[in-house]
Amino acid sequence: LSQSKTLRFGIVGSGPAGFYTANLLLKKFGEQVHVDIIDRLPTPFGLVRSGVAPDHQDTKNVINQFTRLSQDARVSFLGNVTVGADISLASLRQHYNGVVLAYGAESDRKLSIPGEGLQNSFSAREFVWWYNGHTDYAKLPIDLSKCQEVTIFGLGNVALDCARVLLRDEAVLGRTDIARHAQNALRRSAVKRVDIIGRRGPVQAAFTAKELREITKLPGVQVHIPQEAMQLTEADRAEMKASRIKKRVYDILKTACEAPASGVAQRHLHMHFLRTPLELLPRSPECPSVGSVRLEVNQLQQRQDGSQAAVGTGAHETLPAGMVLSSIGYRTEAIEGLAFDSRRGVVMHREGRVLQENGEDAETGLYVVGWAKRGPTGIIGTNLVDAEETTECIVDDARQGRLTATQSTTEAFRQELARHGTQVVDFQGWQSIDAAEVAAGQGASKPREKFVDTQDMIRLGAG
Ligand code: FAD
Repeated sequence: LSQSKTLRFGIVGSGPAGFYTANLLLKKFGEQVHVDIIDRLPTPFGLVRSGVAPDHQDTKNVINQFTRLSQDARVSFLGNVTVGADISLASLRQHYNGVVLAYGAESDRKLSIPGEGLQNSFSAREFVWWYNGHTDYAKLPIDLSKCQEVTIFGLGNVALDCARVLLRDEAVLGRTDIARHAQNALRRSAVKRVDIIGRRGPVQAAFTAKELREITKLPGVQVHIPQEAMQLTEADRAEMKASRIKKRVYDILKTACEAPASGVAQRHLHMHFLRTPLELLPRSPECPSVGSVRLEVNQLQQRQDGSQAAVGTGAHETLPAGMVLSSIGYRTEAIEGLAFDSRRGVVMHREGRVLQENGEDAETGLYVVGWAKRGPTGIIGTNLVDAEETTECIVDDARQGRLTATQSTTEAFRQELARHGTQVVDFQGWQSIDAAEVAAGQGASKPREKFVDTQDMIRLGAG
């Protein structure tokens, strides 16, 4: 593209979607572009830092690629800036020819059942952010020392991550970048049993094979799956025929179901299918903490489109549970002034162009990518494919002269933030935090010891 003037893009969110989009914008617009990557945290990389499990360190290697990108002169990182609080979306847009929303999904789908608000009932997101040292949840009141059974609702990889962290030998986790408070809590853990519960059957589970196989092979952990759960309906067989992934997941579950009990297991993972949570019950009438979960037994019923729905049979079961984690999906929150699809919990868009409130016309120079665009599904790499679609729209709009006009600069934007008292942590600031974290981890043989207090990070990183 030939541009006489440098185009300025602001990307809201420094997770994979934000960084992949930044990379593509540099490729498409060459030297005539500047990209500011803005994040509400003083630390970049979104869920690569705060979602990916601590015992999956290799998955975090993508950070090296994002770091190289941040060191390009055409890119600036502005951390500790919350769009919608420190600066409105409308004001932000005045500083850029195009703004790309890549702010992920930072809320939860709710179980919406009685007892959900009891103590020791958390969303998986809260638990994950706690063990990964996210500043918002470092003080989550989690005490595992008196908790023997944990119930997790949901049949996806996030549920498996939570179960693995609870079941794994603490000494192994102690050599990862797990937050110190979580490491201490896990060292004192009394958890002997984790129950994973899903509404539908093993063929409908959203696990991926690698993560499922890993948990079935955890040292010292016995997996229990009732034989009857592995029985297949005709529709199950058709689903597996159409999807090799489903077949592989089913085969791993079947192997685990049929494996003989080891006899030396210290901890147990029970997988329950065809169960809907009805209610979380307190430990006693006087105690506001969860003590058990009541479930309804389901059966599968084929829908017209061939998929299968869980339908309650009226039979009930109760399981003891000292902590409950609901892992039934993340949700994106609306930012003021955005057309938002509250049913799906995503920003309203067409191929990545954010729509106006009428749901028809596109906003000028406003785009969305990643989990805020497609909902909370897909791995890190999925966001690259998604970023390609959104970037195509931006390139096309630039060609057609459909971007926002602006005279602003990154310096002018920073000055506006400073006038409102926002202390920006730039990439150099993050590198100071990073170096201090790595140094703090060295004595404990950890790749890093994460800071979990925003003020500590601002003291180190704000220029
Ligand atoms: P995010 O990564 O969530 O990034 C969003 C960013 O926006 C965050 O940095 C946030 O601080 C920032 N932000 C939010 N609101 C604002 C605001 N108002 N103003 C400014 N900034 C804001 N994928 C894998 O490939 N392998 C794995 O092992 C893996 N493990 C996972 C484990 C968990 C628990 C979860 C939840 C996901 C995992 N994924 C994994 C999926 C992967 O993390 C996501 O696909 C990816 O992070 C989504 O990218 P994103 O950029 O859309 O969102």
